[in-house]
Amino acid sequence: MRKSETFLFGVTTGIAVVATVQYLVQLASYAFPQQKTTSSGIIKPVPVRFKQSEEPVADTAANSEVGSSVTLSRPPSPKSSLPSVLETLDNQLVVSSSKLQKIVLHMVSEFKKGLMNDNENIAMLPSFVVNRPNGTEVGDYLALDLGGSNFRVCRVTLEGFGNIRMTHAKYTVSNELKTGSGEKLFDFFAECIGSFCKNQGLDTGKSIPMGFTFSFPVEQTAINKGTLMTWSKGFICDGVVGQDVVDLLQRSLKKKGLNIEIKALVNDTVGTLMAHAYSDPQTYISVILGTGTNAAYVEKVDNIRKWGTGNGEVIINTEWGNYNEATILPLTPWDLKLDRRSSNPKHQIYEKMISGMYLGEIVRLILVELVKAGELFNGMGSQTLSTPYRFDTAYMSRIERDHSLSLADTKQVLEDVMGVPKSSVEDRRIVRHVCELVGTRAARLAAAGIAALVTKINRLDACTVAIDGSLYEHYPHFGNRMRDALRELLGITAENILLEQARDGSGQGAALIAALA
Ligand code: ADP
Ligand code: MG
Repeated sequence: MRKSETFLFGVTTGIAVVATVQYLVQLASYAFPQQKTTSSGIIKPVPVRFKQSEEPVADTAANSEVGSSVTLSRPPSPKSSLPSVLETLDNQLVVSSSKLQKIVLHMVSEFKKGLMNDNENIAMLPSFVVNRPNGTEVGDYLALDLGGSNFRVCRVTLEGFGNIRMTHAKYTVSNELKTGSGEKLFDFFAECIGSFCKNQGLDTGKSIPMGFTFSFPVEQTAINKGTLMTWSKGFICDGVVGQDVVDLLQRSLKKKGLNIEIKALVNDTVGTLMAHAYSDPQTYISVILGTGTNAAYVEKVDNIRKWGTGNGEVIINTEWGNYNEATILPLTPWDLKLDRRSSNPKHQIYEKMISGMYLGEIVRLILVELVKAGELFNGMGSQTLSTPYRFDTAYMSRIERDHSLSLADTKQVLEDVMGVPKSSVEDRRIVRHVCELVGTRAARLAAAGIAALVTKINRLDACTVAIDGSLYEHYPHFGNRMRDALRELLGITAENILLEQARDGSGQGAALIAALA
C-alpha cells in the first residue's frame, strides 16, 4: 500500500509541477467566477450572478437559456478571438497529471474511510458475494438487469469451462415509469419477465432461480436482501427508498402468478466482476461506464472495519459515483450548474463528470454559453439546444468520430438534430473541441478511480479490470485516453493493468451469483 503511494508521488516530474502551478494560477484568476469557498471548504454559488429561473423556454439566442445564466469566464482580453475562447475552455477542462494524482490519493483515503464507517460519501458496500467462480459452474438461470437506461430480461446458461450462453430481451424504462410509483415499476418488470418466459417457452410451473441486477445504491443484509438507500440516474419512484427491492419484485412476480425465486440481488459492477472472473481469474476490479459510473473490487474481509474482523474475501460495491470532494475534483461552473438542476444535487458529483447520462449535458451547457457570448453559430441557438438533456452523449461520439474535412456529420448533428440554423466549419471545430475536452476529462477521471483501486488493493503487478457500459464501448478513444492517464499515473506499471471490455456482465454475473448462492 505505502509502496505504491510513494510510487505515485515519485512519478511527478518537475515539468508537471511547473505546469500545475501555472494551471492553479489560471484557475485562481478566472476559473470559478461565480463560486466562493465557505469555511467548511464547500463551494457555494454566489446568488447575485444568477437569474431566479434557470429553466430554458425560448428559441432564440436573445431570450433562451443562453441568455440566462453563468457567463463563460474568459481571461481579460479586449477583443474576442477564437484561440482565447478555446484556451479558456482548455484551462477549465484539461486535468493535468498532478491533479489526477491528487485525486487518486484522495480517493484511496475515501475508500478506506468507507470501509471503516457507515454513511461515508463512498459507501463501500459489501456485496455478500464471497466466492468467485472457477469456470466449472453449470445450469440454466434467469437474470434481470436494471441499469439505468435499459432493462433486460436474460436467460443464462452456464456451460462450464468458462463458457456462458445467453439470450435476452431489452426493454426501455419510460420517464413516466422512472418518476411514478414504485409498485408500477416493479409490476412492469414482472410483466416483461412473464412475456419473456412465454416467448422462451420456459415452464414457470416449476420454480426458476433468478439473479436480480439492480444498479442503484443498496444496503445489502444478505445475498438476496437489500434496501434501496437512494435513487440516482433520474429515477425517483415513490415507496422504494428504504424498502427491500427483492421483496418488492417478488411480490409483483407473485401477483402475475410467476413461479420465479430471486436467489441473489446483485449490483451491475459486482455482476460484471463475477462474469469476467468466470473466464479470467485475475479479474479483481470491474467498472461501469454507462448511464452512470461505479466500480467493484475484491477486498479482504479483515479490511472491512465496519464489519469487525473476519476471514476470506468479499466483493465490495464501491458506489464511487458519489465521490463528491469539491476541493479535489476539478469542478467547472458547468458542472455546478448541472448539479444544481439535477434530481440529486450535491450527490454523485464524480458520476456527473464521467457518465453517459451527463456528458452530453455538460457539452450542451458549454455550447449554450458560447452561443450567448457570440462565439458560436453567429449567436443563434435553437429550442432543442436550449432544452436540458437534449444533447445526447452519443452525439459526442458521432462528432469525435467525424474526421471529414468539412465535419459533415457534425453539421448534421448540429443542424438536423439540434436545430441550429447554421454552423460554419469553424463552429463545428469548436464544438468538436468541446466534446474532446469533456470526453477526455471523463476518461481521465475514470482512470484516476481505477488507479486508486489498484493502489488500494496493491495489485500493481497484475490486474484485469472488466469494464462494461455503452460509454466505454462506443465512445471513440475512451479506452485509449484512460490508458494514457494510467501511464501518467502509474508509469510503466500501468502495462500490468489490463482494461478489458466486458459485455453483458451484469446479466451473466447475476446468474453466476444465483448459481453460487
Ligand atoms: P445502462 O447504464 O442502462 O446499463 P448503457 O451501458 O447502455 O446502459 O449506457 C447508456 C448510456 O450510454 C446512456 O447515457 C447513453 O447516453 C450512453 N451512450 C449510448 N450510446 C453511446 C455512444 N454511441 N457513445 C457514447 N455514449 C453512448
Ligand atoms: Mg448496464
